[in-house]
Amino acid sequence: MPRRTRTGSSPRPSGKKMPEARIVWRGKQLNQRTVAMIEAAEKLYRSKFAILQGSYNTGGVAASAGTHDGGGAVDIDVATKSPAQRRAVVKAMRQVGFAAWLRTPAQGNWPYHVHAIAVGDKDLSRGAAHQVAEYRRKRNGLANRGKDDGPAGYYGMTWELYLKAHAPATSSSPEADRQAITIAAAVGA
Ligand SMILES: [Zn+2]
Repeated sequence: MPRRTRTGSSPRPSGKKMPEARIVWRGKQLNQRTVAMIEAAEKLYRSKFAILQGSYNTGGVAASAGTHDGGGAVDIDVATKSPAQRRAVVKAMRQVGFAAWLRTPAQGNWPYHVHAIAVGDKDLSRGAAHQVAEYRRKRNGLANRGKDDGPAGYYGMTWELYLKAHAPATSSSPEADRQAITIAAAVGA
């Protein structure tokens, strides 16, 4: 009989965990950790996102250059949103621990979207892991290795740090945000 995991316990950052469980969510392949992160970002943004591309999508979108082959990757459609809304989506994703950037048609063969990689995901593809490293170097994650063009201040954030600062059942507050940023800064970012 398989060993049952405890329910209701919060993730232990240093504990050994099973690989992130894959699920189909809103018609896209993702893992549970990534979905929980997206849902938390939607709460911050106060509206649902439209998912363009999920994870585990090998060969699905050539322009993604393999970053969506493994876990933790998601693209959000922001084609019809205003510049301010696009920034707000990027910010909400960064706040919960994604390396996230606005991608524009001027940068590649793609529509306006927010490309995001879950920092610390155990299933990241090689390309996605490289982008996380670039994010932490405050770069844009593109081949041109340009400067990061999104809201600063979240380079050290992870989902686990976000959870630590935000009790599950309570809504977010500026105080909790400040706490998470302080923790993120303490771990080096
Ligand atoms: Zn993408």
